[in-house]
Amino acid sequence: MSSSEPLHVVVIGAGIIGAATAVELLRDGHRVTLVEPGDPGGEQAASYGNGCWLSTASVVPMSAPGIWRKVPGWLADPLGPLTIRWRHLPRMLPWLVRFLRAGATEERVMATGRALRQLIADCPERHRVLAEEAGVGALIRRQGLLYVFPSRAAFAAEALAWRVRRANGVTWTELDTDELRQFEPVLDRRYTFGVFVDSGGHCLDPGAYVAALVAHAVAQGASLRRTRATGFRIDGGRLRAVRTEAGDIPADRAVIAAGAFSRALAAAVGDHVPLETERGYHAVIAAPEVAPRHPVMPSDGKMSITHMASGLRLAGQVELAGLAAAPDWRRAGILRDFALRLFPGLPRTLPEDRVKVWMGHRPSIADGLPCIGPARATADVVHAFGHGHVGLAAGATTGRLVADLIGGRPPTIDPAPYAPGRFRGGRAHRAPS
Ligand SMILES: Cc1cc2nc3c(=O)[nH]c(=O)nc-3n(C[C@H](O)[C@H](O)[C@H](O)COP(=O)(O)OP(=O)(O)OC[C@H]3O[C@@H](n4cnc5c(N)ncnc54)[C@H](O)[C@@H]3O)c2cc1C
Repeated sequence: MSSSEPLHVVVIGAGIIGAATAVELLRDGHRVTLVEPGDPGGEQAASYGNGCWLSTASVVPMSAPGIWRKVPGWLADPLGPLTIRWRHLPRMLPWLVRFLRAGATEERVMATGRALRQLIADCPERHRVLAEEAGVGALIRRQGLLYVFPSRAAFAAEALAWRVRRANGVTWTELDTDELRQFEPVLDRRYTFGVFVDSGGHCLDPGAYVAALVAHAVAQGASLRRTRATGFRIDGGRLRAVRTEAGDIPADRAVIAAGAFSRALAAAVGDHVPLETERGYHAVIAAPEVAPRHPVMPSDGKMSITHMASGLRLAGQVELAGLAAAPDWRRAGILRDFALRLFPGLPRTLPEDRVKVWMGHRPSIADGLPCIGPARATADVVHAFGHGHVGLAAGATTGRLVADLIGGRPPTIDPAPYAPGRFRGGRAHRAPS
């Protein structure tokens, strides 16, 4: 129980960030209302369809030195692993420029890596605890993550990424060709080098996990309002209510955890955050004939492959095309076809009813870090969005951090790198030492 007064906190959005935050606020004795128009953990949320990875090694931001050279390719190849639709380029440009700047030097990449590491360092264990509290401990697996390469040279070509990992305390075991064959016999023989990160974990069903966290929060006294938040009633610098399509909900505090849909809500409390959607896809092959024992990431596929509850989930692709454009399902087909090449034991053709596809929105901030902390207009509203590629992993720690900020406790990690203030007047973020 926190030393602060119990408050009524309205949490906007019931993806992994909102769900974990609700559980942590209840732990501190607060009263919680969750506002969510969809099913908690439902298909509308990135938290439903992600790659299932609870990766302790995801400390490498997307933007890296020299990446700007790849921009023409992103525009030219509509089906490449990262693409920008031309129509969206003018609107995307300010985000893109900030994104490229964030990775312009190795020092910046290292600083971003340190800030990410705080959020994910012990993520499998933190999620195990949360999941067990919610009665679904079996959904969290801690059996490591495997990166595979066509050659040792391909691994060496990613030297910066692995330097960032090493500098952040990530350890791994390297597997030569024979060791890799024994480790994952179902993999295509084209892969001759592996890197195993045994501290990593995965979730067998992220959507079910989020739904269970929300059900647990409700069982602990939270109320769930099935509506959409539209803004805030603020009076004399204090929050009075969260405005929703179903009327105002009086509140002492509010948390914006609406993922990629948070930008307008943040702007309503004075923060203009460079938040974009990095659209991603998955394909799930039901009842796969073969499956790897560990979640796998092939270096040449830029995707994660995880044997989860409903089948073999292939997740990846980055498409910069805004929140409203229709999905391009050819991208899910690319993921499926790559997996067929990766696992020769899968049938060459799969009937359509064995492959379920999905598209969702990674909430991505240009500098590669989430926005967590008090809003400009009032500290009664706390931002908790923008986790990009690592939101599932970072969800547990983020929930605890937000509850600490609201309860006035000293947080267990340094919140400075995620401060919303970094977008006010261009102040650079301070990385934890
Ligand atoms: C293809 C893909 C693969 C990924 N793989 C991984 C991975 O392996 N590991 C990992 O850690 N991360 C991964 N991610 C990223 C991760 O899924 C996200 O960072 C994370 O789910 C974001 O969680 P969230 O709660 O912020 O947002 P969401 O899960 O999107 O939830 C936001 C919720 O807010 C609700 N909402 C929206 N607007 C409003 C409103 N106005 N009022 C109330 N509610 C609202 C939505 O309905 C939604 O339910 C992946 C993402 C994608 C797309």
